Amino acid sequence: RYEAGIPVRSDDEIGRLAKAFNQMADAIAKEDEQKREFLANVSHELRTPLSYMKGYSEALLAGFAKTKEEEKAYLRLIHRETERMERLVGDLLDLARLEGQSVPLERAPVAFAQVIEDVIAMYEPIAAQKRIKLSGDLDYDVIVNGDADRLEQVVRNLLDNAIRYTPEGGAVTVRLSRLSEAEGELVIEDTGKGIPKDQLPLLGQRFFRVDRARTRKEGGTGLGLAIVKQIVALHGGAIQFDSDLGRGTTVSVRLPLVREGEETYVQDKGTD
Ligand code: ADP
Repeated sequence: RYEAGIPVRSDDEIGRLAKAFNQMADAIAKEDEQKREFLANVSHELRTPLSYMKGYSEALLAGFAKTKEEEKAYLRLIHRETERMERLVGDLLDLARLEGQSVPLERAPVAFAQVIEDVIAMYEPIAAQKRIKLSGDLDYDVIVNGDADRLEQVVRNLLDNAIRYTPEGGAVTVRLSRLSEAEGELVIEDTGKGIPKDQLPLLGQRFFRVDRARTRKEGGTGLGLAIVKQIVALHGGAIQFDSDLGRGTTVSVRLPLVREGEETYVQDKGTD
């Protein structure tokens, strides 16, 4: 790692100034390094589906497919990789927007249980396909001060993971409750493969995956939790992961609620 190099010769003001410069230069160098790493990751993630698409289309053009059926199989693979790339680009754009805060949150009182119910309904067919028991226990009085579309995205990404990383015959439970006057909690619990404890702090880092090779097959972009973390932070909430390897994962999201008589505050979109 790059070390900034103003020699610190004394303990006086000049010495302290030199130290401060060194720390700033270090911080800038670190940010540069993170940017480089991110770009390298993005390039790699985009190149993988591209090379599949190139390979399969070349095979088609070279006449490797002998039957209509084989031809279709190649086309299906190309289509799968196209969709993968579409998801990746969509997630990248979303993350850039959220991190740059170029689109402010559209805050209003949100009936969170209704949002969750709709997402659960959306995932019911996918859960059924895997014979996963998907159930919800929702408090309909929890009104979050937030952006309904963004909150839906949080639930979608978390539920998607819970179902994706839970094997056939498992269970996924979604709970929404009120912790206090000011705070609500969404908990999504699965009986899936779990995450090693020492890797829990890495969740939400862009492109972090517990098992690189396997999760590629499972189709994720590696950006879902980074997006969730950003949205929760923009709402002034907190997210916590807990997991037992081989037994399952629990994700808890705490969000500020609209308190009675506070509706006027909600209308104010905030100019600070
Ligand atoms: P991905 O698109 O790969 O799912 P995410 O950012 O949503 O990306 O999640 C990052 C990684 O965290 C996943 O690749 C997976 O390894 C792990 N993970 C997330 N949720 C779960 C879960 N419910 N159970 C087990 N592992 C999970």
